[in-house]
This record gives sequence, C-alpha cells and structure tokens, in this order.
Amino acid sequence: MATAPNPFARARYLLSAHNPRQLPADGGFEVAFAGRSNAGKSSALNAICQQNALARVSKTPGRTQQLVFFDFSPSTTNPQAPDKYLVDLPGYGYAKVPQELQAHWQAFIESYFATRQALRGLVVVMDIRHPLKEYDRQMLGYVVRRDLPAHVLLTKADKLSRGAAGNTLQAVRMELSRAYGDTVSVQTFSGESKQGVEEARAVVERWLEF
Ligand code: GDP
Repeated sequence: MATAPNPFARARYLLSAHNPRQLPADGGFEVAFAGRSNAGKSSALNAICQQNALARVSKTPGRTQQLVFFDFSPSTTNPQAPDKYLVDLPGYGYAKVPQELQAHWQAFIESYFATRQALRGLVVVMDIRHPLKEYDRQMLGYVVRRDLPAHVLLTKADKLSRGAAGNTLQAVRMELSRAYGDTVSVQTFSGESKQGVEEARAVVERWLEF
C-alpha cells in the first residue's frame, strides 16, 4: 500500500513577525515549536518536514527574535479552508540578548500565547541530556494555562544508550504528568538517526487536522 504523502514536505517560509501587527490573520490552525538555543529545534523541524534547510531561515541574523511562520504550498484547492501554519519561536539560552529586546520579546510571546486563537498546540524541543530547564517550563506553562496540549521531544536521543534514553523518558514523563496532568505528552527523538520522527509528525498532523 502506498503511504500518504507527507503534507509537511510542502512547508515553506512565509513571513517573520517582530510584533503582533505582523502576525498573519488569526483564523487558521497553527502549531508552535519552542526550544532553548542549540536544543535541536531546527533539526527537528527539518526532519519532520523532510527538508534540509527549512528552519535555517529562523537562524539568520535579525530573525532570532521573531516568530517565523511556515505555510503549506499549494495550501489547498478549497479557498474556504483554514490556513495552516508551523511557527518557529526563537529560543534563547546562550545568546546574550539586549535587555530592551528581551522585554519586548517577552511581552510579544506572552500576548501571542495568551490570545492567539489559531494555536492548536506547542512542541517543546529539549536536549535529552538537559531536559525541563526553566525556559521549557515557562513555555509549557503558557499553553497549559490555555488548556492547549503540548508535546515534548527529547531530542539527540542518539547521544545516549537505549537504556539511558528510556530512563530519562520515564523520569520526564512522570514529572510532566505530576506538573501538568495529561495535557503534555513526551517522546524520544533524534534529528540525526530520525528516531521518533513519524511519531512527532503524527502529533502535529493531528493538531493541524491534516
Ligand atoms: P536549534 O538551535 O535548537 O535550532 O538547534 P539545531 O537544530 O541547530 O542543532 C544544534 C546542534 O545540535 C547542531 O550541531 C546539530 O547538528 C546538533 N543536533 C541537532 N539534533 C541532533 C540530534 O538529534 N542528534 C545529534 N547527535 N545532534 C543533533
């Protein structure tokens, strides 16, 4: 049986929003991706979309403090169908960001999470060797407060033995369930070995109602 084509293979860069006025109209479905710098978010987006350089645009200088939107082309043959987007949120962690920009970004992201109707779920990418840092918990808190689901990718799982990866998965799962109930799911992932890519894609596909 032929497998269905991966809709994410059609993802392409649409725009970058530096403030709420630059966001696309809030009438569709979107899934946001967050992760600390270097966690492996770009690699995860590229793997899910089966593209080598899709998320590179999010890393170009000047774009690191913007919400980067990807849409799907051709979007649909039905002009009435809702728009669907993947949204790459800037990660911070190592990069020193000027304080003023940091405050602007914080306000922007908080208003995005608090008000965006199109948001269907959040994927949080964490290096499996350094899970659940403060930034990760902050991002999870934003969506859980809205009763929206989140899915955690414990990526770079290829860096650990199968046993060690499994132990971390269990520990993180238990902690997430204690903190957030069943609105947050978690899996191991690797952009390198492609382990877990289909499982992650299935979650995002379901949220976007592809
Ligand atoms: P981002 O800053 O979160 O977008 O992180 P990147 O996707 O750019 O990855 C940061 C670094 O980690 C790069 O050197 C990647 O090659 C590496 N990396 C990302 N994902 C994986 C993975 O699953 N396995 C391994 N071994 N390295 C990875």
